[in-house]
Amino acid sequence: MLTVEDYLARVLSLATALPAEDCPIDSGFGRVLDEDLPARFAVPPFDNSAMDGFAVRSADTTGGARLRVVGDVPAGAGGAPAIGEGEAVRIMTGAPMPPGADAVVPVEDTDQEQGDVPLPASVTVPTVTAGKHVRRAGEDVAVGDTALHRGQRWTPAAAGAAASVGYATVRLRRRPRVAVLATGTELVAAGAPLGFGRIPDSNSVLLAGLVERFGGEVVCARSVSDDVADFREALADAADADVIVTTGGVSVGAFEVVRQVVESEIEFVRVAMQPGKPQACGRVRDADGREQALLALPGNPVSVFVSAWAFLRPLLDAYQGTTADLRTIRIRAAEGWRTPPGRSQFMPVVLTDGGVRPAHHLGSGSHLIASLHLAEGLAVVPAEVECVEPGDVLDVFLVR
Ligand code: AMP
Ligand code: MG
Repeated sequence: MLTVEDYLARVLSLATALPAEDCPIDSGFGRVLDEDLPARFAVPPFDNSAMDGFAVRSADTTGGARLRVVGDVPAGAGGAPAIGEGEAVRIMTGAPMPPGADAVVPVEDTDQEQGDVPLPASVTVPTVTAGKHVRRAGEDVAVGDTALHRGQRWTPAAAGAAASVGYATVRLRRRPRVAVLATGTELVAAGAPLGFGRIPDSNSVLLAGLVERFGGEVVCARSVSDDVADFREALADAADADVIVTTGGVSVGAFEVVRQVVESEIEFVRVAMQPGKPQACGRVRDADGREQALLALPGNPVSVFVSAWAFLRPLLDAYQGTTADLRTIRIRAAEGWRTPPGRSQFMPVVLTDGGVRPAHHLGSGSHLIASLHLAEGLAVVPAEVECVEPGDVLDVFLVR
């Protein structure tokens, strides 16, 4: 049996880095940035007010003071009037600080009314210290600082950051194209009536959603019977995919269609994990001789979920040139449970105040698809641990 780490290394060796392309910053969420972005602008770009109020010289305000109001600076003003001793300027949030001013007094701390009122001739202010309610130029990011790093996932916040430092387009990696083929003659499409011995195909919808979540593009997601000719045809139809992910048909029973069709091309192994022991991966060639990665997962839905987090996500990350997402966090076990000796256990867990506990009383049973959605994490219990004790610290993938 291979360890999870050894099998993961074999899976990762299948990845080839995908090319990047220029994309408008408001597109491509979930893709990966393929360049560092040095700030073209400082953020903030100039010293400005954090409040609606009056810009003052702090030295003038000791003990409170009545100051002459010499002008107005709304946000977007083309210029700002300078202030001298005993003077103030009415200022709005985000407006540039007037030359000479070093602090802002919020309007609510003065004797003036709030709102759209005429500019007063004077204002009474309390004592303020220098720098109060002033946002300094570059205090978030200075010009030339690397504001965003190559390899990070493109998100709305990343797009906002890129806009703030002067970018309208960025280089994002192409999404890996993924074909999902769920094998099993027993499968019927979601929502269809069940005949004798039939079950709904939950794996293809589960995997398609995970592929999107992991930054991939689903080119097809369907079930295919355990007939060799059908499976060959489905593989051929998946020719435009970078990665083909199959479920089922890899264990040691009869009618294991994935094994029957690609046993000579890819490697079938047993991995020391629970659930998810039978696995296979390797490269196959499409009709034009183009190489594709094939990741063959077991059939049971919880095994599929666990295998997707353990192997498919790192594989798709590798295609996208990143490892940024492959983090676990450390959380205590709120209760104890038994784990299979010699195999890493991936336990679906929920988070409670006292730590994590199994999401279902049947633990990591690989068929428990209808309650898998309750899991907020997958706790990874090392192979050498046979019993989790309350208070043990565990590595947990957050899966929500
Ligand atoms: P297999 O590895 O093909 O023997 O499948 C193992 C178990 O997973 C069997 O109980 C299958 O019925 C079940 N299974 C296989 N594929 C799916 C699927 N797409 N959706 C739900 N259950 C499945
Ligand atoms: Mg099967």
